[in-house]
Amino acid sequence: MSKKWFPPLSNLERGVDGLHIDDVTPDTVATSSRYTFTSGPETEPLVPPIFHSSTYKLRSVDDYLKILEEGGYIYSRLSNFTCDSVQSAINGIEGGKGTLVFGTGMAAISTALLCFLKSGDHIVVNNPCYSGTYDMVVNILPRYGIEHTFVPTGCPIEEYHKHVKSNTRMLYGETPCNPNMAVLDLEAFGKLGRSLDNVLTMVDSTFASPYLQPVIKHGIDISMHSCTKYLGGHSDLVGGCLTFASVDLWKTVIHYQTSLGTTLSPHDASLLLRGIKTLPVRMERHSSNAQKVAEFLEKHPKVERVMYPGLPSHPQHQIAKKQMKMFSGMIAAEIKGGVQGGKILVENVRLIQLAVSLGGVESLIEHPATMTHGPMLMTSEDRLSGGITDGLIRLSVGLEDADDLIKDLTQALDKIPDSLLA
Ligand SMILES: *Cc1c(COP(=O)(O)O)cnc(C)c1O
Repeated sequence: MSKKWFPPLSNLERGVDGLHIDDVTPDTVATSSRYTFTSGPETEPLVPPIFHSSTYKLRSVDDYLKILEEGGYIYSRLSNFTCDSVQSAINGIEGGKGTLVFGTGMAAISTALLCFLKSGDHIVVNNPCYSGTYDMVVNILPRYGIEHTFVPTGCPIEEYHKHVKSNTRMLYGETPCNPNMAVLDLEAFGKLGRSLDNVLTMVDSTFASPYLQPVIKHGIDISMHSCTKYLGGHSDLVGGCLTFASVDLWKTVIHYQTSLGTTLSPHDASLLLRGIKTLPVRMERHSSNAQKVAEFLEKHPKVERVMYPGLPSHPQHQIAKKQMKMFSGMIAAEIKGGVQGGKILVENVRLIQLAVSLGGVESLIEHPATMTHGPMLMTSEDRLSGGITDGLIRLSVGLEDADDLIKDLTQALDKIPDSLLA
């Protein structure tokens, strides 16, 4: 491919009207980042249009080749104005050198893995990790001759180092980790990656959002988010994104995205852009609500253990404090009474919804041992060795009133009979 495309730059990144991205905080970037035509009518829409068109009328055959080489719009799998708008907005919040958006979070992950790993290569990944990532690493990559080593989530960075081999090409981390909320030290992780030849670091930071944890600014090569979660924030779209520490990485991946066809639909890009404008305020409320709920759960007699990065009892609380602006809305808690205890809780909440996914305005709860990390995906030995205990529940704390959420949890926990606790 001879493409000379470059990442789309927002008004702030280009310094339009003399206002540059370095003059404002990420809060303002989220609300005020705009991607606009560089020439055209006198006025510009505040909200970018949704470009439905799959194809574009050309003025000449030469134009086709020129656009293919230099960038522009000819066909929506290659690039789309609405997607470029949201790419530049996310890139500004991450502080990256370029962002790409994808049809789902898994499309972003699979495109990156297929792009940077080839037959004979090796990847080190934390375990547990997101169920789709686990499936990809365990069941799909080996078919292409790509091998992996798992390290325990929350382990010291030296553990990653220990498993690096001559064919290791990527260190992959998730933080906070799904579903047990362990935290990875981003600065140390990035530093290890840079100390090795030809090894990229990639981090799934979905549970934190780029607003609370701008991974690229902490020295990581590739930041990944499921936009389905906090970035979209309203449980009304699926999408994913990758942000890169260099334009070269961006260019390498856009080639693969074009061939794999993992682009985002312009409709979803538009919804995503709308979600991002309130990302900072939503994350503040998610975080303050979750802190209250976590403190409540930690004191409850039917709860064995609570994993929330904002609690001093969290094993990596100090690291979380260093790299997260606030602690986000995800909580893991081990309910007494094993599988039964966990199930009774998730089936008896009334305000909180029993559903997978996370990061939306409404609170959601799930039971990993029987749902996302259940027998369909892994054996119970593998599940337990990754610390996903029978009674573990995962709670995505929404934007409702925290006291109402606590009341709801109280009445549901009351339904767990004492006979189960023995
Ligand atoms: C949801 C999720 C993904 C996958 O995203 P999809 O949009 O569902 O494809 C990846 N990582 C984490 C941590 C997630 O929560």
